[in-house]
Amino acid sequence: MYKTQTCGELRISDVGKTVILAGWVHRYRDHGGVYFIDLRDRFGLTQVVINPELSQDLANLVQDVRVEWVLQVTGEVKPRPAEAANENLVTGAIEVHAEKVTVLNTCKPLPFSINKEENTDELIRLKYRFLDLRRERLQQNLELRHRVIKYMRDFLDDHGFLEIETPILFKTTPEGARDYLVPSRIYPGQFYALPQSPQQLKQLLQVAGVERYFQIARCFRDEDQRGDRQPEFTQLDMEMSFVERDDVLDLVEELFTTLCAKVVPEKEIVFKPWPKITYQDAMDRFGKDAPDMRFGMELVDLTDFAKGCGFSVFENAVESGGNVRAINAKTLGSYTRKQLDELTEQAKLWGAKGLAYVKIAPDGEESSPFKKFLSAEKWDALLRLLDAEKGDLLLFVADKKAVVYDCLARLRVLLGDRLGLRDPNKLAFCWIVDFPLFEWSEDEQRWDATHHAFTRPVKADMELLDTDPGKVRGAQYDMVLNNYEVASGSIRIHERALQEKVFSLIGLSPEIARERFHQIMDAFEYGAPPHGGIAPGIDRFVMILANEPNIREVIAFPKSNAARDVMSDAPSEPMPGQLEELHLKVVLPEPKKQA
Ligand code: ASP
Repeated sequence: MYKTQTCGELRISDVGKTVILAGWVHRYRDHGGVYFIDLRDRFGLTQVVINPELSQDLANLVQDVRVEWVLQVTGEVKPRPAEAANENLVTGAIEVHAEKVTVLNTCKPLPFSINKEENTDELIRLKYRFLDLRRERLQQNLELRHRVIKYMRDFLDDHGFLEIETPILFKTTPEGARDYLVPSRIYPGQFYALPQSPQQLKQLLQVAGVERYFQIARCFRDEDQRGDRQPEFTQLDMEMSFVERDDVLDLVEELFTTLCAKVVPEKEIVFKPWPKITYQDAMDRFGKDAPDMRFGMELVDLTDFAKGCGFSVFENAVESGGNVRAINAKTLGSYTRKQLDELTEQAKLWGAKGLAYVKIAPDGEESSPFKKFLSAEKWDALLRLLDAEKGDLLLFVADKKAVVYDCLARLRVLLGDRLGLRDPNKLAFCWIVDFPLFEWSEDEQRWDATHHAFTRPVKADMELLDTDPGKVRGAQYDMVLNNYEVASGSIRIHERALQEKVFSLIGLSPEIARERFHQIMDAFEYGAPPHGGIAPGIDRFVMILANEPNIREVIAFPKSNAARDVMSDAPSEPMPGQLEELHLKVVLPEPKKQA
């Protein structure tokens, strides 16, 4: 037996016991010949004392001990002297007086500290991920992730769901990204595709009569590595039969609300029940379909106001089919010229032509580069529309609608941060509903599914499929939390004819649709029940709960943001003979010419 207790276990009531602990040297101190070692394992820290008066041999041995050595310590639990007790540590009332110390392993000098937070280059952290993960913050993240997943499993089990694994080697299931392909040795020239999600398989499980399915599912998407993406990530994949939209939403809402109360009780759930906001409303109020609902600062539509208002920038934007919208950043009326210039530069980086402002200083003085173009009535009307008061800063974007939304959405979040309105201890969940089923792809000159091709059009809009596809709403929904889309889902098509129609609307020829999706279309002809589901992203959700800035912090072994596994150095070239066995030849791209 290596240990009788963990390093987080001993209390004052254990005084007098002889115990065996094993773990890593977190810290050590030499207090005039008496050695103190904080011994750490996953469960905590215990102070070990090595007193030369007790054993000179022991004292000699521990002189060589350094951080992260692995020790086994046998000793007696004693109370700490009152002045040395540490209330911040659960084991802080006791210490273990070592009688025997065995060095189980030594440790080379570390590439970064484990016992304190410091700014380490992320690539170094990823290269030594096995050390990085020893750090307290990441240990906590691993544990939080475990708690989240365990809660999900227990809850869904209680609600009649079956956890079912689906294959990783499969055929393309499109979610809007490129597939990762796996060559088949047995069938030269043929490839499996790694699932972008188990979408078709979970639907097939409904045809199979499972009724309530879930899986902690790995999804693989070969996307350009912008922002916070990982080539592989994890979803709580769910699907249910005989459900309507609100059956799915109610169950998921209950799951996440009770989960948060249990796993992160220190956080406050802002809305109960979660608001349901239409896609259009979300865009109009927040400029994006994954809003941060922890604060207001909503967008105000000034497009009607702008017509003939006197300020040509606003007028021209509207005349050329664009939009004028604004936000009121309360209390930022004290911003200096320099701060406003800096905001304008930022807006330009986001694609806006500029940023117009009205500043109302705390003493009431109004200033704006465009005030002189507006009549007194128009000026007053503008201030009223924006509910402006002393101390406010009004920011305007006049541009194409998409630019106006995007730029103000980003500004709102940036200023929300600066004003401390994005409290990490608040969880503002909401549902976004009534998305358009299709969006027009300018590049490809065809309709594209906004969610995916298996989403059902809402009943009332079915007729529009033939006449005006752009107006058809999808029976789809997003779950949004604090400025992130955490899940998407939909009620599905379960009839072959309708599925074929949607495939053809998004430009899939009947031959290609049959070649790629015959399994699901065939299945729809054998008594497929009505069904629907959703797939919350676990990495992102845990990231938000852990107050982490990116999902790599909550994944044990993530890829770098350049999609490499830095620790094992993958991807890498194959071993000799592997390509021949797979009947593959690599044709490398021409090296880029130096400009
Ligand atoms: N498969 C979808 C996704 O990965 C989720 C769903 O529709 O259930 O986004």
